[in-house]
Amino acid sequence: MLAAEKVHTLFTAKSPADNFRIAALHRYHILDTPACEDFSFLTELAAKICEAPYAFISLVDAERVWIKSCAGMHMGELPRGESYCSLAVLGDAVTEIPDLRLDPRTAQMRLTVSEPYMRMYSSVALTSSDGFAIGTLCVLDTRPGRLSDDKRAMLAKLARQVMALIELRANEKTLEATVRELEMLATTDDLTGLHNRRSLLHRLKFETARAKRFRSPLSAVMIDLDHFKKINDEHGHAVGDQVLTSLGKLLRENVRVIDIPGRYGGEELCVILPSTPLEGACKFAETLRAKIEAQVHYAGTQPVHVTASLGVGSFDHMEIADAESLLRQADTALYRAKHGGRNRVECGAT
Ligand code: GH3
Ligand code: MG
Ligand code: MG
Repeated sequence: MLAAEKVHTLFTAKSPADNFRIAALHRYHILDTPACEDFSFLTELAAKICEAPYAFISLVDAERVWIKSCAGMHMGELPRGESYCSLAVLGDAVTEIPDLRLDPRTAQMRLTVSEPYMRMYSSVALTSSDGFAIGTLCVLDTRPGRLSDDKRAMLAKLARQVMALIELRANEKTLEATVRELEMLATTDDLTGLHNRRSLLHRLKFETARAKRFRSPLSAVMIDLDHFKKINDEHGHAVGDQVLTSLGKLLRENVRVIDIPGRYGGEELCVILPSTPLEGACKFAETLRAKIEAQVHYAGTQPVHVTASLGVGSFDHMEIADAESLLRQADTALYRAKHGGRNRVECGAT
């Protein structure tokens, strides 16, 4: 095999070990992240300590070497076959090449044969917590030579700092995701997937304050299922639960992103409609009522129909009192809807 072919094979052949290594790299979720001062600082420090004009933090991906940070020049990424760093993670652990022009593996590489005509490469592997070399911290020079033992030792210490920073960023990301998930669990009702009562009331308070501040209208629709006790009695509690789950989905699919649908309690649901006056809220409630009536549920193969009564409360900005009175108004309207024969919408205070 010709030397050049051999080099190509060396860079592109994917062994199972390389796949594990790439998986380890991807677990850090660092590829293609924006530039960050902490990493730049470590790269600049590496160049300074090693008295080299260039330093890179390189991460060796499946097809490319992605540069997290570089000092001395700008570089986004390189094909694997054009990067000295590929050698450092490919098993034979090349860490220093004193003359890139004389080494057959690097003599024809882009950075060797064109600007800035690199001659010296020295690197320390960045090793993941499970033992894979995911990239390097490296320094480069346009003069051939070797780093002194002291400088290599310092480069190794800096590489450990780089790795610690990569771990820290990954842990922060995991923590953020966990906090988001916990927040979601704490504010969501299991059965319906809607806001739970606590979250609904919390958001209502917030929306009331906002409506006052921005002088915008605010409405709330209270929804109570008609004769729901009968559904439970006739078909069992599990079917009642299924009905509530489907209604939760129906609500979520029929509100705007700014609306807040929630489970107020039992079989009572509520939707808060920010920036919506009474008329708009009543139209929304009527559409919802019709959709609830049209939805078919099943107890086994037997179709089950459910209707709901809805009450709309609304404030325009001139007369916003507080969150409780908005719900009270919606509740009074709901009471009228029940007494007016159910499966209907009643709007406003009178
Ligand atoms: P109305 O038309 O007057 O509202 O009649 P209703 O039967 O719906 O009213 P009521 O308030 O008397 O009964 C509500 C029923 O809702 C009773 C309760 O068992 C049922 N319910 C409340 N929460 C749940 C739940 O999470 N799952 C199920 N399956 N049923 C529930
Ligand atoms: Mg009820
Ligand atoms: Mg009911």
